[in-house]
Amino acid sequence: MAVEAGRNAAGGRVEGVQQPLERTGLALVVPVPPGVPKAGEVTVQQEAPGGEALEVWIDQDLCTGDGICAQYAPEVFELDIDGLAYVKGADEELLQAVGATVPVPLPLLADVVDSAKECPGECIHVRRVSDRVEVYGPDAV
Ligand code: SF4
Repeated sequence: MAVEAGRNAAGGRVEGVQQPLERTGLALVVPVPPGVPKAGEVTVQQEAPGGEALEVWIDQDLCTGDGICAQYAPEVFELDIDGLAYVKGADEELLQAVGATVPVPLPLLADVVDSAKECPGECIHVRRVSDRVEVYGPDAV
């Protein structure tokens, strides 16, 4: 599907994906939201620093329970009945041991990093598996 350029009613330039309207024979240009790759653009997956494996853990002592992390990365974080966020292990199991970590899947790295950045409790820690150095979070070097 190609991205088309056109003009809106005010004369401004717009880009979008041309989609046919079958009944009328007209064409509708649907705006492409920011961040969505346009035709011909290459998407680059965010890589872990140095391409190394990362893991994430939560300091529940500082968790406010607002649930932002679970909104950003529900595959990785979830609030438990106690109102605090935990990382999720295999089979969606919440890991409640102090300092429990789970691997950060590369496709979810951006969401996990955003969670750490937005966490009001500053209690999400993303670190390298190899040397346990924090790369995202309040103690990142
Ligand atoms: S974003 Fe931070 S403070 Fe909020 S629920 Fe998640 S871990 Fe807790």
